[in-house]
Amino acid sequence: MSLSLYNTLTRRKEAFAPLDPERVRMYVCGPTVYDFAHIGNARPVIVFDVLFRLLRQIYGPDHVIYARNITDVDDKINARAAERYPDLAPEVGIRTLTEETAAQFHQDIAALGVLPPTVEPRATEHIPEMVALCNLLVARGHAYVAADHVLFDVSSMPDYGKLSNRSLEEMEAGARVEVAPYKRGPMDFVLWKPSKRAGEAGQKTAEPGWASPSGITVAGRPGWHIECSAMAEKHLGEVFDIHGGGIDLAFPHHENEIAQSRCGHGTDVMARVWMHNGFLQVEGEKMSKSLGNFITINELLATDRFGQQRWHGRVIRLAMLGTHYRQPIDWTVDRLVQARTALLDFADLVHGVEAAAEPHPEFLAALSDDLNTPSAMSIIHGLAKSARRNTESAELLKSSLRFLGVYDNQSRDAFAVGGAVRAVDSAKVEALVSARLAARKRKDFKESDRLRDELAAMGIQLKDAKDPKTGDIVTTWEVQS
Ligand code: AMP
Ligand code: ZN
Repeated sequence: MSLSLYNTLTRRKEAFAPLDPERVRMYVCGPTVYDFAHIGNARPVIVFDVLFRLLRQIYGPDHVIYARNITDVDDKINARAAERYPDLAPEVGIRTLTEETAAQFHQDIAALGVLPPTVEPRATEHIPEMVALCNLLVARGHAYVAADHVLFDVSSMPDYGKLSNRSLEEMEAGARVEVAPYKRGPMDFVLWKPSKRAGEAGQKTAEPGWASPSGITVAGRPGWHIECSAMAEKHLGEVFDIHGGGIDLAFPHHENEIAQSRCGHGTDVMARVWMHNGFLQVEGEKMSKSLGNFITINELLATDRFGQQRWHGRVIRLAMLGTHYRQPIDWTVDRLVQARTALLDFADLVHGVEAAAEPHPEFLAALSDDLNTPSAMSIIHGLAKSARRNTESAELLKSSLRFLGVYDNQSRDAFAVGGAVRAVDSAKVEALVSARLAARKRKDFKESDRLRDELAAMGIQLKDAKDPKTGDIVTTWEVQS
């Protein structure tokens, strides 16, 4: 079976040939563990799980190494830990938060039928490797120490920007960020930074810190990009086969991973194939907390107050795989309902049937064509059509469903759960919110209170704040949990 994969680096679909078929190596950027993973985060986890299964099928389960990291050093983590555990020492608070969040993540994605990766490296357990890579980059003239930071000098890499297809001139012209005075070039990025002490620059608690690279005497911490370069090298080597993540990571995260790893090791590539999943939006809109359409995996799986589970994990997984991984996906309740209907039907058909030893060859061929899950699903639907009359079809159907991870001996009833996850008509909410603001402005408080109550009945909570510049009242809203 020949596998072809779309490579972001070359912008083409290419025949895949591993460097070493005995050790096929894949790295995927994992979660930053400070909060529940959302349904967008579930997309790369599911997509690359399907690829992991396919690689194991082709090269043998013992010949694939899949590393998916856990980012447990990050500004958002520090801030959240200080907020949630103000009474604990910062390092204890951070450890507690990251352990809790990682455990929750594992529980959530296990329900989605995701296999554990071969290794799951944590940033905090690879600090010496990160320091060593910083030192190597400085020694090779690709990085410099300034104001207790280590910075990557992008001008030292002639093809910086190749992955995301931008030239350095373009990037510099577009750089609107305020450039720190210690940077030599505006696009130079941080490999290592000093850790703030308590009391410094409005800092409530001290940031975690480690012994810094050569030439820096204060404690510091790694930047996000160097974390992945160091962990990938440790577990997969200087050059490996596949690197994946969401399309939002292509720039700057992956571009910078490439710069660090290639310049550190003097190699032509970091990974030979770069794969990116498209973005997920919810009911036609970008997912965001303020729009009230922010959906966590946990909340889709949760039981409601009647003890009824909302959606079965495999239904969520099937709903995700209905769209090709490179396309954007619109996450809707409709999509979940359709996936549930299909799975109920499949479960009926394969109940009591012995699964075939291998999935249908055409099904595997469809997946081998750049993970074409919609086409693989149409093979599955074809098998389902003939499964009632034809035992062989039923056996192949069961084996193919198992391969895809959407069916694993669940009883039919397991899939039958499902209720509408609150979908908010944000246009209507916005209209009511502005009507209420207008009522307040004309001092019609009776009407403004009535509108607030109407919104509350829809599960919408309002927050009024004064715009510090204009003094106007600005209202934001969120869905009550
Ligand atoms: P983060 O924790 O934000 O670094 O994201 C973890 C992974 O989820 C990365 O591979 C992101 O690209 C991916 N991701 C985040 N949001 C979305 C989304 N809305 N749609 C698809 N992938 C996403
Ligand atoms: Zn990464």
